[in-house]
Amino acid sequence: MRYVSTRGAAPVLGFSDVVLAGLANDGGLYVPESWPALPSNLGSTYPELAAGVFAPYVGDDIAADTMLRLCREAYSTFRHPDVVPIVDLEPGHHLMELFHGPTLAFKDVALQLLGRLFDHILTERQQKVMIVGATSGDTGSAAIDGVKDCANINIVILYPEGRVSEVQRRQMTTVNSPNVRTVAIDGTFDDCQDLVKAMFNHAEFREAQNLSAVNSINWARVMAQVVYYVEATRRVGGPIDVTVPTGNFGNVLSGWIAKQMGAPLRRLIVASNDNDILTRFFNSHTMDVTGVHPTLSPSMDIQVSSNFERLLFEMNNRDGAITAAQLSRFRDKGKLVVEPDQFDQWITPTFAAGRASDHDTLSAIRSVYENIGMLIDPHTAVGVKVAREFAEDGVPMLTMATAHPAKFPDAVERATGERPALPEHLADLLDRPEHTAHLPNDLAAVEAFVASHDG
Ligand SMILES: *Cc1c(COP(=O)(O)O)cnc(C)c1O
Repeated sequence: MRYVSTRGAAPVLGFSDVVLAGLANDGGLYVPESWPALPSNLGSTYPELAAGVFAPYVGDDIAADTMLRLCREAYSTFRHPDVVPIVDLEPGHHLMELFHGPTLAFKDVALQLLGRLFDHILTERQQKVMIVGATSGDTGSAAIDGVKDCANINIVILYPEGRVSEVQRRQMTTVNSPNVRTVAIDGTFDDCQDLVKAMFNHAEFREAQNLSAVNSINWARVMAQVVYYVEATRRVGGPIDVTVPTGNFGNVLSGWIAKQMGAPLRRLIVASNDNDILTRFFNSHTMDVTGVHPTLSPSMDIQVSSNFERLLFEMNNRDGAITAAQLSRFRDKGKLVVEPDQFDQWITPTFAAGRASDHDTLSAIRSVYENIGMLIDPHTAVGVKVAREFAEDGVPMLTMATAHPAKFPDAVERATGERPALPEHLADLLDRPEHTAHLPNDLAAVEAFVASHDG
């Protein structure tokens, strides 16, 4: 399988190169040249299913038995025998729990695999990389956990001092591995992101350090998430509708890809919080940037959904030049309009979108607790509220549960009076010693820190 950039001006690459590259060098995102069909004879366990779904995307780059071993290792870190178990919420409405990985959010599904893929490819090539990233919470801890035992990877994660939750911070700062460093930056999440971008734009530094990224645009992350959509249709019995709490559009895009591959998915329902740029787009054909405001579901507080570019490329019949021009107008004007025929072809048959305010989020947490005694996290609750709105008789609905309730205990306690307990493997998290550096919002200081990190 070969991969092309959504902006049409980057080299065509194979799987391993795409994994290491992350972003294409024309600023675009890599997508496979075509969407393969799901292979027949998919295995029955989750790691076997995963290796089968990945096979057409990986091609000859990694041997099939090696891929199966990497999948087995990645998903053995999940604390449930089904990896992504399904529970019944109410008649016809199921939850798929994506949060049984080490850091309690769905990002583990992709990052446990991505860390191992990186390590495998780097070992073959006898290379080392320095991963740098900025986090507002979930991605940093999941990325660290995914690479913490990898000899060929050093990682530095920047987070805004005082602006991530205690559980999220401790999941990063209590990891005691020689290749892991965290830095509390005196600034906001945007400052952290700007520092990371500046390091990548500093060509000499980027090359000297062999910088790399594992952000949500990495193709392997999107690919890893396709598997649980296939698994959902196998276990519930398709065709089904799926509702996805959405931020960067990575998760729901993976559902769209599963559908292109032939999985019996009917509608994909995008659930937003008050930062509802996507919901407004799906309901109005216009993407219009407004400010970001904080909500009870912080991992979905985004301005522009980076992975949407991959769907836009399809909507432009895979014309990279048109996609690039459209995105550049969007950056200048803050507005993106899609033609009605593009909408009718690509959006209407598959996507729907709804929104939940913080008030709706708390009500959904409370109603699930009152109905079946289960605690759900605020991101999942956004999904549940929207799924209930869109549910249709005779079509099973499945909502993706993207975080464990103990990751966001304050909102859960506010809604129910009950404070969710951390699972056993993290029960002593609040007593573990923390290791973190503190730096000013200053590029030279951060670069010097990264350069001094030699694992
Ligand atoms: C990252 C995240 C999301 C949003 O997922 P996207 O792939 O960015 O749309 C939703 N819920 C939780 C808990 C997350 O960590």
